[in-house]
Amino acid sequence: MSGGVTAILLAAGSSRRMGFDKLTLPLAGRTALEYALLAFLRADVTDFLIAVSDATRPLAQSLAERYGKPGLRIRLVEGGAARGDSVYNALLLAEGEAVAIHDAARCLAEPSVILDSIAGALARGSGVAALPPRDTIWQSETAVLERDTLLAAQTPQSFDRSRILAAYEAARQAGVCATDDAAIYRRAYGEVHFTPGSPRNQKLTTPADIALFEALLTRRACRSGFGEDTHRLVQGRALVLGGTEIPFELGLLGHSDADVLTHAVIDALLGAAALGDIGIHFPDSDPRYKGICSLELLSAVNGLLREKGYLLCNLDATIVAQRPKLAPHILAMRQNLARALCCDVARVSVKATTPEGCGPEGELVCITARCVCSLEEYEP
Ligand code: MG
Repeated sequence: MSGGVTAILLAAGSSRRMGFDKLTLPLAGRTALEYALLAFLRADVTDFLIAVSDATRPLAQSLAERYGKPGLRIRLVEGGAARGDSVYNALLLAEGEAVAIHDAARCLAEPSVILDSIAGALARGSGVAALPPRDTIWQSETAVLERDTLLAAQTPQSFDRSRILAAYEAARQAGVCATDDAAIYRRAYGEVHFTPGSPRNQKLTTPADIALFEALLTRRACRSGFGEDTHRLVQGRALVLGGTEIPFELGLLGHSDADVLTHAVIDALLGAAALGDIGIHFPDSDPRYKGICSLELLSAVNGLLREKGYLLCNLDATIVAQRPKLAPHILAMRQNLARALCCDVARVSVKATTPEGCGPEGELVCITARCVCSLEEYEP
């Protein structure tokens, strides 16, 4: 699946039943809007429109900056007063052959649900994720509805873009509004094609849902990683540790800024994800990395991990250095690393120890850093 599909993530609702904006609430450390975006990235969708409100615009903007890159476009569109207005505004900007319209509050959608929905749109004009209800459904205490005839519509609801746009324009002209896109499509064309939804693909709606969603989100594998690096101390180089330049008569020798702490962190993260090591991703034979700030490399690794569905749980690093005294700089290092990792500083621990004059670190030949980390593996 690729540029032929535009995902429309609806993030402009008022969250009335939640009482506060549900899409910006961190669930197991990440917001629902970010999980929704990750779900579509895992389905290899590369073109996004996020319909935003005042409440969700800053978050959507930061996600667009964090995840957007060449070949992956994330645009924001103003949401409307009603859901249908937001969809219509987005449809006017969409360019894919198909559009996958999705409530961002359904942030746990599996890639298979998304891919089936899109495949329906490409093959038959529409693919609406839906699920037979498990419960007996009563109609206002008067009648039990025949369960075999019922389907609960979820999202994504995917359509041929030009057909759903025409259907929306016709509905708007007739003054018809509907709470889902399938109804608008059916009104125009008399049919809708359904694709398999899933029980996990629920909509975050009430405060009681938060614990349920977090339980589902935290049911992920945990992975550990370890990284170690040593750089030689020489004259005439800056001493950079964790992105902080520290006044000292010696500095670390290396192709990049030789930030030994950040390198150990990078190797721990890559190791936890079994994605190789820093030398594979950023070879020191490559002139692009000459003198580079290693925090930029860490940012790139963070992006890679997030794309693969790994989220940092925590990391803990130790610097082995005889001198200089590092305690005054520890907080700045933690803040730098946390910024590059887009996480809270509480997830990042940095410590320093002196080797009591023993070994090459003790004799000021080198500085060594070691890091362990744990990642949560996101498995929709
Ligand atoms: Mg190194």
